[in-house]
Parts: sequence; structure tokens; C-alpha cells
Amino acid sequence: MTTNPKYIFVTGGVSSSLGKGIIAASLAKLLQSQGYRATIQKLDPYINIDPGTLNPYEHGECYVTDDGAETDLDLGHYERFLNVPTSQANNVTTGRIYQSVIDKERRGEFLGKTVQVIPHITDEIKRRIQILGNSGDYDIVITEIGGTVGDIESLPYIEAVRQLEWDLGEHNTCVIHLTLVPYLSAAGELKTKPTQHSVKTLMESGVQADILVCRTEHKLNDSLKTKLARFCNVKKEAVIESIDASTIYDVPNLMLEEGLDKVVLNQLNLKSSVPDLTRWNEFLKRHKNPKSEVTIGLIGKYVELQDSYKSILEAFIHAGAENEVKVNVEPIHSEYLSESNIEFKLGHLDGVLVAPGFGERGIEGKIDAVRYVREHNIPFLGICLGMQMAVIEYSRNVLNLPKANSVEMDEQTPDPVINLMASQKGVVNKGGTMRLGTWDCKLDTESIAYKVYNSELITERHRHRFELNNDYKAKLEETGMKATGFNPETGLVEIVEIPANDWFVGVQYHPEYKSTVKSPHPLFVAFVGAALKYSKKK
Ligand code: GLN
Repeated sequence: MTTNPKYIFVTGGVSSSLGKGIIAASLAKLLQSQGYRATIQKLDPYINIDPGTLNPYEHGECYVTDDGAETDLDLGHYERFLNVPTSQANNVTTGRIYQSVIDKERRGEFLGKTVQVIPHITDEIKRRIQILGNSGDYDIVITEIGGTVGDIESLPYIEAVRQLEWDLGEHNTCVIHLTLVPYLSAAGELKTKPTQHSVKTLMESGVQADILVCRTEHKLNDSLKTKLARFCNVKKEAVIESIDASTIYDVPNLMLEEGLDKVVLNQLNLKSSVPDLTRWNEFLKRHKNPKSEVTIGLIGKYVELQDSYKSILEAFIHAGAENEVKVNVEPIHSEYLSESNIEFKLGHLDGVLVAPGFGERGIEGKIDAVRYVREHNIPFLGICLGMQMAVIEYSRNVLNLPKANSVEMDEQTPDPVINLMASQKGVVNKGGTMRLGTWDCKLDTESIAYKVYNSELITERHRHRFELNNDYKAKLEETGMKATGFNPETGLVEIVEIPANDWFVGVQYHPEYKSTVKSPHPLFVAFVGAALKYSKKK
């Protein structure tokens, strides 16, 4: 434990997509495993207030926290690695910083002063960085600065880091610069020049990197580390190799081998000890030594982009390890699914997950997929829009309401089995206005869900505007689709099941956001278990 919080900054150089989030999460894991209370924060230099309004093609999945913040997907990694919930304070964008400063200006709180990037924007950045540290809940705050040094938009953040290092004094801060050491196959060599340049760029803003984490496809030899240390003003032991790993869950161990935690703790004047990674390594062992295999179809409209369904893919990894099963996730584009190719695309699967989503594109394929798995008794998990598609499919093909739809897709539908929530009527702004974050759900004790959770009252995270129209509930239940979970205050249906099938569950909430290495989500664990059972029976 420390008396005052310490701050670690992670910057990126040379290229984007080097995996700052994974390095930050791995370091936090190593610190947590030595008894430090660590948290991670992501600063995103774009102007959007949050990523909630961003298309997944732009920025991958939007991750939702308990307090209903729509955030960067890196927060998902933080939670999955640390098993500690994050909140709005863990993700701040330039838009949010400017919005607070401008609101303050309108309230007259700057007392007639000219409002400027320095000091007003940088002060607001510094305040946001210290919110988590000042909460008293953490010994160490790791702040990941999005973007690459040298970008115009990240300049105020780097300046805030420079000032904070000065304000907080020696041994209270540490700057880790994540960089790329490319391999030139024509020369047969790893090249240090891009790293030298990006460290210089950082220095032009007055920030000296204390530690270099070098992403590389080949091992860095001793002389290369010496060279990097010499040119970049860091100690040799602070040149950390980060070689490509077969799974992100190997990175904490790789960083431990390289001594990243030791160099960091030394810089912060904190004691280091041997991290206790027993649980983590048990998970890794199960993950890497599966006893059997299942193939699960992930039906969505962004499947060509891995990041769009990040939390779902990770939840399958956790649930696979728990079941000692390798889960092969087969991405299936719903736009190209139709009755004529459905057997070919889904016939061999052991389970099908219909993904969350918005808008009309690709929904008919999702509905066809639900029909196929329902009629063939293939284990099914529908998440959010996926659950809504299950209700529409059932209404069309079992209740004989051929035009049943969600009003999201067809405002004029004669059978709006999925309707806009009353609380959403009149909502005009798109950003941050959905039903978001944690809500209660009460379970029917005669249900798969109850067996899975082993509790009557659960809480899960949400992100939606539409809901099952309760006017159709009785009809659905009479014919065999049961509502087995609902919000106790509003009666909003949270879960539907088809008891005649072996494992058919649709949930209005997002279980994937709460799955971690330490606590794999029970619904994913049960779904993978059902897929395994099905594959054996097949
Ligand atoms: N578009 C649907 C709604 O808003 C589903 C949202 C989702 O899948 N996250 O209700």
C-alpha cells in the first residue's frame, strides 16, 4: 500500500494499434498481484464526447460500464484482466474535456479570464487524471494516452503529463513509451531508428520516457537493447521487449519475465515482490490444453472486424477455459445469409450466437438464422438485438404474424413485437441516451437462467432503446416462448427462453461485458457447455 497515489503514463510511438491497452492491463495485473490497488484510465484524443455514437467500423466495440458510461473497448481489457469494475472516470475524451471547460466558461467561472488550451484545457486533463487517484481507492493509476506522439490532437495530453510530473515530484510518476521495433526482412535486421525518433518527438514536448516497451516480431538482443538505452536516455533494464504473443493473456507473464513491474516499482520507489499469478496461470493452462472442441457461429453484420465483438470473443475464451473446451468462433455475415444457404452455413455448428446491433442492415439473415437453430434444436444465445430477433422470428413463424417486426426497423409494422421503450419516447439526442448500465433482473426459478445464475435477482449491463412489447407476452408464452427474467420495477422483459428446446436463451442485456478471467460469465459458460453436449450428441 502507498500513502499517496502514484501515476504511470503510457504513451505510444511509431504506429497505432501497438496494444497499449494490453500492456497497461498486463502491468496493472502484475501490480495487483503484488498487493497494489491498481486501475487504468484511457484518454482518447478525439472530439466525440464518448464512443457511443461511433460506428464499430471506426472504433470497434463500444464497451459499457456499470455506471452506464459508453466507453472505449480498452476498458473491457482492463476489467477482464483485473476483475475490478471501471466507470466513466476511466475513459475521458477530448470532447468531454472541452465540454466541461466550455460549460464552466458559460457559467462565468473563469472570472473574465481568456480561456486557453494552456492552462485551462491542460488543467482539466490533469484534474481528470487525478480523479481516480484522489478517490482513495487506488495506490497506482495507469493512464493510457490514446493516439501516437506527434499527433496534433494528443499534444495537450502530453503537456498535461509534463506538468503533472513536475507538480507531483520525483518517484511519483513514471512514463512508459510503447514503440515498434520493425524487422526489415531485406536487411535481416531489427531497426531502432523509428523508436529513436518517437522518443525525440516526446522529448520535444518536455517528456522523457523512463521505460521503453518495444513491440517486436523477433527477440531483441543485448546489443540492440544497449543501443536503444543509449540513444533514448533510458536504463538498459528499462528497455523491455514485447514480442508477439499467441494470446493477449500471455502478456502479463511476458512482461514479468522482462521485469517491467520491477523497473516501474523501482522508479516509483515502491517495494516489489513476486506477483501471485496462480489463478491467472491456472486459467492459461486450461485455455491452452482443451480436452475437446466446439464451433459456434457468431452472426452479426460487423464480423469482418474482430474488434466489433471484442467482449463476446473474449467471453468465449473465458468460458472455453472454464469448460476445458476450445471454442472456434465462426464469424457469419448476416447480410449474406438466406434460406437457400442457411443449411450450408449453419448446419455444422454446435451453437449459434446472434449478436447485438442497430438498424436494419442484415436483420433478415439474423431472423433466418434464429429460425434454423430453433427448428434444429441447436443451442442458441441471442444478445440484445439477437434476443429481439428471436422474438420477431417466433412471432412470424409460430404466432403467424408474418409482418411482425421491431419498430426500429419498420415503424409501420402491424405487429410491433419489439417496441420503443416508453422512457425513450421524445428522446432526441443520440449520445448517452439509451437505457445504459446496470439494471436489476428477477428470474423465474423454472428457467435455464435461474440454473445458470443460481440466484433469483441478478444485475447486468444494458445498452438499448427497444424492448419486448408486453402486449404480446401472453401470446408468446402460450405458444412456448417464455419470458424468464424481467426488471422488477418496470416489468421489462430481460430474458426469453424456449423450454421445448434444449438450450435457447435470448437476453436483452449484455453478459459479455461482465466476463473476466477470474469470473467467466455463467451464461457463456453454460452456453459453451450446451454446445459441447450438442456436439457429442451429434
Ligand atoms: N437496436 C436495439 C435496441 O436499441 C438493440 C441494441 C443492442 O443490440 N445493443 O434496442
